[in-house]
Amino acid sequence: MLPETKALDELGKLKRDYRDFIKTNYEHRAQNCAICPVQGACCLDAHFVNVHITRLEAAAIRKTLGKLSAEKQKEIYRRAQEAVEKYDLKTTGDTFARTFACPLFETGVGCLVHSESKPAACISHACYENKADLPPEFFQAEIENKIERLNKRVYRRNALTWLPLPVWLSLISSTTKEI
Ligand code: SF4
Ligand code: SF4
Repeated sequence: MLPETKALDELGKLKRDYRDFIKTNYEHRAQNCAICPVQGACCLDAHFVNVHITRLEAAAIRKTLGKLSAEKQKEIYRRAQEAVEKYDLKTTGDTFARTFACPLFETGVGCLVHSESKPAACISHACYENKADLPPEFFQAEIENKIERLNKRVYRRNALTWLPLPVWLSLISSTTKEI
């Protein structure tokens, strides 16, 4: 077993290494998000986004969001709950089949967890003109396996692992005592 705080440190290092790896080896061939005419379309496309995270990543996101004002945090958790309801997101069944607009995208700011706790799927994702330039999927699978192992060492008794991002955000929101 691993304490959550220690696991969050390890998760942070895993993500940083993965982000550096993608940046160095792939991102230079992708379109530049800073000058994208449809900035955020990738995060808000409710027909496309199905980012899943673990409970540990949700804890990391909560820590990042904790640096924002209480009012802003409330707004984001409310957006997450609204997404769960609007897109009928579940904790069981084929959770990957449902898509949603991500509640962590903030107009004018971008991804609210970009630097510290961005999900692995989002680190891998960018717009590439040539399919051959995309990072091979096994790199993402590899880091997600590591994240899953870390997650299990912290919350061993909890059967829930990968869930849609808004579902985990709703479950760990400040009003939730037990999961
Ligand atoms: S990932 Fe693609 S759609 Fe999203 S901001 Fe970057 S270039 Fe634009
Ligand atoms: S977590 Fe961030 S990068 Fe990923 S879909 Fe949400 S806003 Fe976009």
